[in-house]
Amino acid sequence: MTAVQSSAEDRGGDLTHTSRRPGGSGRPSLLAVYVPAVVLLHLALTAAGLWRTSFRLEDLLTFTALLACGAVCIEASRRLGMPAGVARDLLSAWWLPVALLLPPVYALLIPIPLQTLLQFRVRRTLLYRRIMVTSALGLAGACASVVFHSVIPEPLADGPGWVVDGYPGIPVAVACAALFTVLNTGIVAVAAHAAAPGNRWREVLWNRESLLLDVVELCVGVIVTITSAVSPALLLLALPPVVLLQRSLMHQQLQAAARTDAKTGLLNAAAWQREADTELSRAQRTDEALALLLIDIDHFKKVNDNHGHLIGDQVLIGVASTLCGQVRDYDVVGRFGGEEFVVLLPGADTVEACRIAERLRGRVRRLAVPADHGTVAVTISVGVALLHTHGSDLIELLAAADLALYRAKESGRDRVCLPAVEGPHPTDD
Ligand code: GH3
Ligand code: MG
Ligand code: MG
Repeated sequence: MTAVQSSAEDRGGDLTHTSRRPGGSGRPSLLAVYVPAVVLLHLALTAAGLWRTSFRLEDLLTFTALLACGAVCIEASRRLGMPAGVARDLLSAWWLPVALLLPPVYALLIPIPLQTLLQFRVRRTLLYRRIMVTSALGLAGACASVVFHSVIPEPLADGPGWVVDGYPGIPVAVACAALFTVLNTGIVAVAAHAAAPGNRWREVLWNRESLLLDVVELCVGVIVTITSAVSPALLLLALPPVVLLQRSLMHQQLQAAARTDAKTGLLNAAAWQREADTELSRAQRTDEALALLLIDIDHFKKVNDNHGHLIGDQVLIGVASTLCGQVRDYDVVGRFGGEEFVVLLPGADTVEACRIAERLRGRVRRLAVPADHGTVAVTISVGVALLHTHGSDLIELLAAADLALYRAKESGRDRVCLPAVEGPHPTDD
């Protein structure tokens, strides 16, 4: 699926864009139990850690220095702007050294001020998501910390000994950094999946881009850990390159965000059109079939009128996520504006296109978006147009699909239609 699912909006920054309120999803009970459980565990371990840890000046100074570096990074990204869809950062560069060099309680603590700073200085997101992400980072950091300290009990007090020796300190540091990433991803992914059960696990957990970013974060985190183990003063040398790296990462994400509809994470109209044009040229060159689906939510205005715009937005997000989850990787899904979506299906003939359209209609029908009183159900009408049969360029295809959509609306909604009656069609009721 070419739709840019903002998996950037996921680990380390936010739950996926398809996430909904706790208790506000297809499986509300799981989310309503899971999120408080994770947060309570984080709080309980932090309280226990504060109670049992004997605080040393050296640890406190290192913690303060790393916290200050994290705050500088956040302030640097604030000036660049961080709209929805831009969520990956390099803050692991600072919480990994905290986890590996200091007692576990510091790893539980550091996400709290840094995530608070992100929330109030960079981008406000739903509070429960921010708290969930904070707890996931804290718990993952504490686990990595416990494992690392079981091998290197006094990583700071030993001085650079374990760094100079190299073995087993450095491989264990890398393994613990990986453990941190896996745990953090896993804890957040369970919540994201509970919020949007229709999403495939693979999408929630992993994509090539996020894996690459995980590796970069891991490497930077381990390098900063080693640097600060040698001398916390060396953080002054580590800070500028990390800030620069973070800024280029943000820049790349900003470019991706410019192609994306912030509300749904799908391609926006302009980006969809560009990608659709490319696919269309390819289909014409290779003489392959291609279909276009124009999808409109039925009576969406009533959803807004009855439940408010926020629930309306959740319906849009739910429909977008359902569409994405039901098409093939190479199909191109976009939000055309308002409550209208468009899907390009390379290689699909009439039968295949109508079969996919019917599947989308059926899946959306099953969607139950929670509202204050019960759930909201919606249906969609779909207009289908085929390359060569109904048009030879994008404009003609869109016009034909629009006509088909009009037929679907006129004949009662919640159905799939072709532009003109060409004999009976399996999906035309
Ligand atoms: P039909 O079945 O004929 O398509 O009826 P409809 O009510 O879905 O269509 P209409 O065009 O009358 O209303 C579309 C509504 O979608 C009106 C507009 O306020 C709402 N809308 C457009 N964009 C957004 C959005 O981003 N969020 C929310 N919540 N509502 C939106
Ligand atoms: Mg509509
Ligand atoms: Mg409409």
